[in-house]
Amino acid sequence: MCGIIGIITKKDRNLIPDITASLSDLEYRGYDSAGLALLDGGVIRVYKCVGAPSQNLNSEKIKKSLGLSETNAKVAIGHNRWATHGEPSVINAHPHLDCRGAVAVVHNGTILNYAKLKEELIGKGHVFSSETDTEVIPHLIEDYLGEGLSLGESVAKTCRGLEGSFGLAAVSAASPELLVVAKNGSPLVIGVLKESLIVASSQNAIIRYTDRIISLHDGEMAELSAGGELVYSISKFGDASSAKVSRQEEKITGISMEDVSKGEFETFMLKEIFDEPASVRAALLGRSDKNKGDAVLGGLIDYSDYLAHISHIYFVACGTAHNAACVGKEIIESLSDIIVESAIASEFRYRKHNFPKLDTAVFAVSQSGETADTLESVKEAKRKGYKTFGIVNVVGSAIAEETDAGIYTRAGLEIGVASTKAFTSQLAAIYLLALKLARERGMSVQKGKEYITELERLPELLKKTLELSTEPTKEIARLYGGIKTINFLGRGIHVPVSAEAALKFKELTYIEVGSYPLGELKHGPMAVIDKESLSVVLSPKDELFDISKNSIEQIKSKGGKIFLITSEDARGDSGINKADSVLYLPVLKEKLFYPMLEVIPLQLFAYHFAKNLGRNIDKPRNLAKSVTVE
Ligand code: GLU
Repeated sequence: MCGIIGIITKKDRNLIPDITASLSDLEYRGYDSAGLALLDGGVIRVYKCVGAPSQNLNSEKIKKSLGLSETNAKVAIGHNRWATHGEPSVINAHPHLDCRGAVAVVHNGTILNYAKLKEELIGKGHVFSSETDTEVIPHLIEDYLGEGLSLGESVAKTCRGLEGSFGLAAVSAASPELLVVAKNGSPLVIGVLKESLIVASSQNAIIRYTDRIISLHDGEMAELSAGGELVYSISKFGDASSAKVSRQEEKITGISMEDVSKGEFETFMLKEIFDEPASVRAALLGRSDKNKGDAVLGGLIDYSDYLAHISHIYFVACGTAHNAACVGKEIIESLSDIIVESAIASEFRYRKHNFPKLDTAVFAVSQSGETADTLESVKEAKRKGYKTFGIVNVVGSAIAEETDAGIYTRAGLEIGVASTKAFTSQLAAIYLLALKLARERGMSVQKGKEYITELERLPELLKKTLELSTEPTKEIARLYGGIKTINFLGRGIHVPVSAEAALKFKELTYIEVGSYPLGELKHGPMAVIDKESLSVVLSPKDELFDISKNSIEQIKSKGGKIFLITSEDARGDSGINKADSVLYLPVLKEKLFYPMLEVIPLQLFAYHFAKNLGRNIDKPRNLAKSVTVE
């Protein structure tokens, strides 16, 4: 959630454009306000604003407001805030300063023991200007600097006293060639360039400059210095001896500068929807062996024996990833005898767990790999002795590191806050996992081969689905623009897809809609069906098709409008001519794969509906891309 950027260069120059551009790159992670600090001529200069950094942080405007005709700095830090303590305002925006304006800090995360620390600091005479938890950090650093410690030592000592999560960057007017950063539970990476070092809370803000990075782990800090040579040193802030930690440089993989631009598309979300054939192809690539009719999941190889014997699975996830996991439950339970529960991570982490420790796998599903509730669920599961696995998109993310093993979903960078291609890539990974588990439990080689043949068709069929959905979904969104009530409905494996459709619709349109198993309609929700309601029904021709037709009749008898998503082989079936609009998907032999196709028109439907309402598609209000706070 939210973003940090820090730059330190060999030669001083105007760093404002780099900071503002990077804050715009990080905007998708959430923001309600933003700010930056420059170490210019030994003085810390701060500029803050409320609202989107891309619209409010203009380089010339900032210089003017700081009263500078030119600015030359070696060090600068910037921040997009997603408020947790104190309302979004200029005062609460970061960077935060100490009493003398000689220390500036930007921080992502939450400090749990801030109230106690603040009280103590006030007791010592410190004066606070914001309501944030963050502000204790510069004041603590101020105290330690006052004791004669260096900036690095002061940050280390401060971190030792903090409880909670933080990615932070600190500068001091007394050390104009130094940038100190620390990490505990919030992401932070260092980008390495010839003339400068860049710190950011996401690789996405670094890729604009370089693909060479150094990762920091929880409990670590780094001192970046531009006095003479450009150098960095990593240590553990818990280690009072400040012994150096050596760390290999890595290359950013899986994202490119292209990913951070919209290309020919009007929004990132639309670009990402149209990416889905390619991202699903990437998720499947090289991960099956046709001859053996089996999945080849390198990331799980060390746990093959373990997974061959499990009897239970907990999926833990939030939001869209939870919906993907619910599809996963249906697939795995239908292909094997494993008992699966798909739990919402924010609930899972606090409850009792009855699945047998030694025969259960906990699979955490998360796009960012940073989702706080999911990460905490993994930690809780580990504490209880369960084996944990990740199904995550971002390589090297917290969940990827925390779990015993896992599968990367290879969706590439997803910038639209409402998740689209991450969902279908999660499904692809889960389809492979389900195959592996099923082959170890009685599925025949032949069935495995057929399953793979059908899996391999999915990228092409997704492309086809995109083509045939584009115009109809625009038209249907226009047609029902003024509708009062919308429900998304399906049976069996289509239930979680209807939940995902409703979630996408709410995220983008800000309209409350429902999602139910079709058969539940008559047990309550039917009360809202009238001629001013729309029921979006998911029912391709599978074993539940005939039962679903019955529900379509019932909706129609109450005068409700129906948008039916079915499959081409249902064309001409008498039961479906009651629907007001019908979209026919390509026919699948493996019916369990329909969720992958049917979500496409639903993503587009939500998209066009929201667009007609003039909503901010890529950055819906109140939401952030990766939810790294509880
Ligand atoms: N807890 C801090 C605040 O409310 C930081 C929030 C963030 O990560 O942006 O200011």
